[in-house]
Amino acid sequence: MAAHSKMNQAASTPIDPTAASDKVNLLDFDRQGLRDFFAQLGEKPYRAEQVMKWIYHHLEDDFGRMTDVGKALRAKLEASCYVGPPKTLFDKAAADGTHKWLLGMDGGNAIEAVYIPEPTRGTLCVSSQVGCGLNCQFCSTATQGFNRNLAASEVIGQMWVAAKHLGNVTHQNRRITNVVMMGMGEPLLNFDNVVTAMSLMRDDLGFGLASKRVTLSTAGLVPMIDKLSQTIDVSLAVSLHAANDELRTELVPLNKRYPIAELMGACHRWIERRPRTSITFEYTLMKGVNDQPEHAKQLIKLMRKLPTGSAKVNLIPFNPFPGTRFERSDAETIRAFQTLLLNANVLTILRRTRGDDIDAACGQLKGQVLDRTRRQAEFRKRLDQGQGVAHAS
Ligand code: SAH
Repeated sequence: MAAHSKMNQAASTPIDPTAASDKVNLLDFDRQGLRDFFAQLGEKPYRAEQVMKWIYHHLEDDFGRMTDVGKALRAKLEASCYVGPPKTLFDKAAADGTHKWLLGMDGGNAIEAVYIPEPTRGTLCVSSQVGCGLNCQFCSTATQGFNRNLAASEVIGQMWVAAKHLGNVTHQNRRITNVVMMGMGEPLLNFDNVVTAMSLMRDDLGFGLASKRVTLSTAGLVPMIDKLSQTIDVSLAVSLHAANDELRTELVPLNKRYPIAELMGACHRWIERRPRTSITFEYTLMKGVNDQPEHAKQLIKLMRKLPTGSAKVNLIPFNPFPGTRFERSDAETIRAFQTLLLNANVLTILRRTRGDDIDAACGQLKGQVLDRTRRQAEFRKRLDQGQGVAHAS
C-alpha cells in the first residue's frame, strides 16, 4: 500500500530532488514505472534502463558505484530515491542446501523466503503478504493471522536479497532459475504489487526469467485468475487439495465463495488464452483426510475435464507444524495415490520435501506477523483447550 501511494505520487507530482524525506524506493517500479520516474526527474528514459541493469544484473544498491551514470544524475538520484531491499534478520541453510531468509518488515513484522537448489534448477519461494487471511486449515501461516500486503519492493526485494547472497548473475550464472509465489500469503489478494514484482522477474533488464519459470500459486480467487491471465504472462498453480466441494470447503474455506466448478471454469479460460501451457494443481496429502483411492478417482475425473496435456498434479506430502491435527500420509499411501493418477494418464509429480529441518517446507513458513485478525489468539485458545485446529469456529 505504501508503495502504491509512492508510485502514484511519482506518476503525478514532479519530484523535488531536495526533499530527502520523500525518497522513493526504486524497487517499487517496473520498467515503465522507472522510466516515468526518470522522466519526472527530467532524465531520458534510457537512463532508467541503465540504472535498472545496475540494480538487477549487478545487484548494486549504491548509486555511487554505478560507474557509467554521470555524476550529476547520481547526485539527483541520491537526493530523490534509493534502492531498498528488505533487511535480513536471520538466514539459515538446511542440510540439503535449502536456504531460508527471515526478512524484517515494518514494526516487528517479518516474512520468509526460501531457496531450494536441485541438480538442474534453483527455485526461490517468495512471500506476498505478511501472514495470510484465507485460513487454510493445514497451513501454518494461517495460524499467524494477517497483517498487510507486501509492497512491490518487498516482493522483488526477497529475490534481490537471495540473488545477492547466492551470487546470482542474470543471463550468466543463474542460481535462481525459477520463482514460485508459494511463500506466506495469497498473491492474488495483493494483485498490483505482485504483478509489478513478477514483471521485474520476467524483464530482460530485471531477472530475465521465462514465463514458464515464474509461477503464481493461488488458493483459487476466480475473478483474479481471469484478471491475471489478461495482465501478465506467467505460469499458474492452483492449490486444490480436494476434488469434492465438501472436503475442499473444510480444508480451504475460500472454496465456499468459489467452489470447484467455478474454479475449473477459470482454469479452462486460462488454458484457452494460453493453449500451449499447463496449470499445476497442488494437492497436499494428509493422512486419512484426502489420500484415499476415492479421492484419487475424484481428482482424475476433475483433471480429465481439462484439455489433454494442460493439467499437472503436484502431490505434496503434508508438512507438519506445532499444534496441527493433520498428519502426513504414509509413503505407501502416497505411492498408491500417485499410481492411480499415473495409470489414468494424469501427469503427476511427487514433490520431495525439502528443508524441513529448518521449517522451510511448504506450509511451514511463519515469519512474524503482527496479527490484525486475532487468529493467533484463537489458535492458541484452541490449542490450550486441547482441540484440533482443523475446524474453524
Ligand atoms: N496462498 C497461495 C500460496 C501459498 S501456499 C496458495 O494457496 O496457493 C503454497 C502451497 O503450499 C499451497 O499449495 C499450499 O496449499 C501448500 N501448503 C500449505 N500448507 C502446507 C503444509 N502444511 N504442508 C504441505 N503443503 C502445504
